[in-house]
Amino acid sequence: MDEVDVLVIGAGPAGAVSSAFLNNLKYKVLVLEKLLFPRFVIGESLLPHCMDHLDEVNFLPNVKKHGFQLKTGAAFYKGEQRLAFLFDDQLTKGWTWTWQVKRADFDHILIKTAEEQGVEVKFQCEVTSVKCSKEKQVITYKDKDGKEFTVEAKFIIDASGYGRVLPRFFNLEEPVQTPPRGAVFCHIQDSKRTNNEGENIFIHSFRNNTAWIWAIPFSNRTTSVGVVSDSDFIQELSANGGEKFLNHIRTFKDLKGRFSEEKLIFEPKEIQGYAKRAKQLFGDGYVLCGNSTEFLDPIFSSGVTLATGSGLMAAKLIHKHLQGEKVDWLNEYENILRKGIDVFRSFVLSWYNGDMQTIFFAKEINPDIKRQICSILAGYVWDENNPFVKKHKTILKTLAQVVRINEPV
Ligand code: FAD
Repeated sequence: MDEVDVLVIGAGPAGAVSSAFLNNLKYKVLVLEKLLFPRFVIGESLLPHCMDHLDEVNFLPNVKKHGFQLKTGAAFYKGEQRLAFLFDDQLTKGWTWTWQVKRADFDHILIKTAEEQGVEVKFQCEVTSVKCSKEKQVITYKDKDGKEFTVEAKFIIDASGYGRVLPRFFNLEEPVQTPPRGAVFCHIQDSKRTNNEGENIFIHSFRNNTAWIWAIPFSNRTTSVGVVSDSDFIQELSANGGEKFLNHIRTFKDLKGRFSEEKLIFEPKEIQGYAKRAKQLFGDGYVLCGNSTEFLDPIFSSGVTLATGSGLMAAKLIHKHLQGEKVDWLNEYENILRKGIDVFRSFVLSWYNGDMQTIFFAKEINPDIKRQICSILAGYVWDENNPFVKKHKTILKTLAQVVRINEPV
């Protein structure tokens, strides 16, 4: 039986960053990945804060070489109204740019870089059972030919994303409170793109705040376009090969015919019920990172940044644990991670209840408030100097009320 210090399930961003960090500290790390990379996954607009994480494991030089589309901000639309945020005008002193990436390429570069640094990665190896205890963890996996193997580890990181391996095996799934939503999306050629339209992500809200459409331009003149809404509307848009969805994006008034004759790179794909939550994020000999912890909603592009951030945070604590120090996983990991997720949760809830649109599309938005909001949009959700972090549960509602009083409809 193979023995390793740390076994990582999944080679997405959370798995790549956590494995690289521990490998650099000379632990024996094995990553088991079900699929062969490059593989498709949705989630293409990064946030500047994830650059801090990529930098910490020395991934940036390899990612830079690829020439991904620079992202310097994000723009929100409602009808003819537009509000653009630029990350160089934000409260937190952090990164002012990041990238928009085809995840197949981006994730492949991250895990290849981890491999170059010394991490062992086995692709097409699916984890099928896990037994955890204080002393040792026993993992069974099967390779692409169905052959079974067992490996023993001192600690397990579950970075299996939508696979949700340990939440499923250990019955950790918890129902989410938000209504079921889905998404339909495709990649489309975008040769009519002009600089005026900007190369940053833009998001249009429509159908009375119950739906929104994203456009995430890539550097090769293709763009990711998708609609998020309640499950019924997404089903309607997805039917017959996404007929209504394609018609919608090609005639959507705010996109001004930008995609009207453009070629599809792939047929529309549908995801339903993407929101997930685990009731606990750690246990004897294991920790959950990235999407296997919780995924709420894609509106503020938080997924990859929370994946890299949680991967790094968990890896640091595993180092402490393997050094024989006591780790208070609840206070040093779960509560901190949940705090960041909760800031995004407040933003997501206020997006769907209309408060955020009221604030964004007020006649005037105070420049200081805009800077503070911009830092959340950049992923700096742990900066306690920011009132939108500290008072996230109340501040958006209060602000929207003030706008409504000052600007009655
Ligand atoms: P993943 O990237 O999902 O990687 C997990 C890996 O684990 C996979 O490669 C999988 O094959 C592997 N795995 C699964 N099961 C097993 C097993 N049994 N054994 C071995 N390996 C296994 N995020 C953003 O940051 N920006 C966005 O713009 C954005 N847009 C989104 C739009 C939509 C519609 C949705 C639904 C999500 C979006 N996200 C976005 C979220 C993003 O997709 C995820 O948050 C992100 O991929 C999480 O990364 P991860 O490393 O946790 O998991």
